[in-house]
Amino acid sequence: NPAFERITGYSEAEALGRNCRFLHGDDHDQPGLLILRQSIEDFGEARVTLRNYRKDGKLFWNELFVAPVHDESGMITHFVGVQNDISDQKRAEENLLHMATHDALTGLPNRSLLQDRISQSISHAERMQREVAVLFLDFDRFKNINDSLGHAAGDALISSMARRLRNAVRMVDTVARVGGDEFVIVLTDITRKSDITQVLSNLIEAIMQPVLVEGHDLSITASIGISTYPHDGRDVSSLLKNADTAMYRAKEAGRNGFRFYAQEMNADAVDRLRLENDLRSAIKKGD
Ligand code: GH3
Ligand code: MG
Repeated sequence: NPAFERITGYSEAEALGRNCRFLHGDDHDQPGLLILRQSIEDFGEARVTLRNYRKDGKLFWNELFVAPVHDESGMITHFVGVQNDISDQKRAEENLLHMATHDALTGLPNRSLLQDRISQSISHAERMQREVAVLFLDFDRFKNINDSLGHAAGDALISSMARRLRNAVRMVDTVARVGGDEFVIVLTDITRKSDITQVLSNLIEAIMQPVLVEGHDLSITASIGISTYPHDGRDVSSLLKNADTAMYRAKEAGRNGFRFYAQEMNADAVDRLRLENDLRSAIKKGD
């Protein structure tokens, strides 16, 4: 019918008498095809979504409903299929998914996707006896850029830095934006500490180069904290928390540098808490 011709690009003459299979071409590895085949063998109904291809080769998503047709004696003589091009709906769903998992300004993964990526890296590292490094990066005195040149210039700087960070790591690594001027970089498949320091030096080199924003040559630095699986944490939230702690250490140490998370940092934090508590109770007692 005309709808079939419009959706697929094939004319009636080209399609009549052919098995509908020609619409998926060589794209055989689809879960929907298994379901469809099984339903037809069982003389049942099926509703599946398939990747199909127009005559010009362009993909369209075909929502296909197939049901058996019986004659008066109850014998199945045919199957009837109703197809619907749902490509627009699929595209909208994909866009929504992208928006839910990526940062709008830089297009990088957001915190939610980052957590998935760390979790995958941990599983992989567990199986392969590897390590994972989580680098928490926060730009130094970023507020000054906004205050002196405006928010738009700040955004432009964040975008260029995002591209540079992305280019400084391997394809398999993740660079995510988790806050205003905060990024997290996940390095997978680490076998020795020098793998991390190599990437660190690439990152620092990439950040150091001035960026031209609205006619100004801007130079900026960053503070980076690093935690590693399995030494500094065995789950997503401890790795992130500990990398963040290490990053604050780098800030305290004067910024423009990096710190590895180490047990004594925890000990320091505990000491400080104890000291605060002691001071508080001393004040209460009037000592
Ligand atoms: P520090 O060295 O302690 O990190 O100082 P900082 O000024 O970078 O402060 P902090 O990291 O705590 O805060 C980040 C600042 O970045 C806050 C805000 O002025 C700015 N910022 C946050 N999000 C955005 C954004 O989306 N666009 C722009 N242009 N600026 C942002
Ligand atoms: Mg900052």
